[in-house]
Amino acid sequence: MTGRRALPETESRLFAAAGVLVDPETWIPGGSLLLQAGRVREVRAGVPGKRGAEVVDLRPAVLVPGLLDAHAHLDLTRVGTVPARRGFADWIRGVLEGRRTIPGGGSPESVRDGARALLARGSTSLADHDGSGDSLAGLSGWPGRALVLREVIAPAPEAAEREARRARSWLETFPSRSRRRPGLAPHAPYTVSVPLYSRLARLAAARRVALSTHLAETREETVLLLRGRGPLRDLLEERRRLPPGWRPPGMRPLEVLEAAGALGPRTLLVHANDLTEEESARVARSGATVVVCPGTHLHFDRAAASVRRLRESGARLALGTDGLASNDRLDLFVEMARLRLLVPAMSPAEVFRAATLGGAALRLSRGAGTLAPGAAGDFLALDPPGTRPDRRGLLAWLTEGSPVPRAVFVAGRAPDRT
Ligand SMILES: [Zn+2]
Repeated sequence: MTGRRALPETESRLFAAAGVLVDPETWIPGGSLLLQAGRVREVRAGVPGKRGAEVVDLRPAVLVPGLLDAHAHLDLTRVGTVPARRGFADWIRGVLEGRRTIPGGGSPESVRDGARALLARGSTSLADHDGSGDSLAGLSGWPGRALVLREVIAPAPEAAEREARRARSWLETFPSRSRRRPGLAPHAPYTVSVPLYSRLARLAAARRVALSTHLAETREETVLLLRGRGPLRDLLEERRRLPPGWRPPGMRPLEVLEAAGALGPRTLLVHANDLTEEESARVARSGATVVVCPGTHLHFDRAAASVRRLRESGARLALGTDGLASNDRLDLFVEMARLRLLVPAMSPAEVFRAATLGGAALRLSRGAGTLAPGAAGDFLALDPPGTRPDRRGLLAWLTEGSPVPRAVFVAGRAPDRT
């Protein structure tokens, strides 16, 4: 905890509610939440005596863990939604153009707007792919917890050493605080060489930080990596990113990560759409987290077969908004509702787990994604329909109804929404 935000060790607050959802499997009807110094001390049925604690009566609201947006591009908030009509490579052109020409596109203000929108809709934690270097400044004063991921783009193998050196010095100078953590984000296998992945993976392991990467988002990526052709090659050449005589690695996207030693429990794989069944099983065995971004699926009109395969393989799933450039909302409740529609076989509990516990690998707080004793006091107060919600009904409503929280708490405090 920073000195400024630290709560006195003795400060206790008791939140009375119609019930507490500790995690997707544990519902305490009529429960109340006792916090001490910003952490959950106790969850119990009923409202006990004051015992010196300040009482905050939130009834008839229920309390649920704060959500975690495991993949954001906050610097694109002011760029807004970029049409996807002419394919993925052209969409990237639109994003780059927007970041350069739209006022505030790729700026700390854009980051700030996005983070505020996410918090108001229940995301108390987020992982931001910092593409323009504005993330930390834009998050200044934002009360939630954030993983700031330095994005690295350098497809030429010759650039690997230089880029790894830059990433190392960025990590060394990152002002780590309890609510800000650094991580590395090699952009994708079509923009990062195998030697660079390898260096960044070693660096992330040595510093014990997360490694987040887009993976196999489109079939075009696989084609480029195997044969060196297609719309993504045109894009990279246009932007003069490929050195003369560049040759593709001749591997599928997941094989690039495996060859570089970049696939493991600290790895976040974003999208992972173009994977075979066998590859999905390898992802599950590696312990990596796959971040599903349903809004982006809808934006590009993509099938959900990959998500179904990964789920059936037992891969750990988290949920992301992926930024406004491929989404029309920054709201993880909306993403939960979209995931339910994309993969109807997923139960409400599974979907809610993806939006909370799914991001546990980010290690943004102790007990992240739950309200178990010892966990950070990050929670939402929501007013469900009906007077006596049960666990099943509550989870169905949370994951289908896109509810708006009445109040959002980080470390037991409701931040200003201004
Ligand atoms: Zn992304």
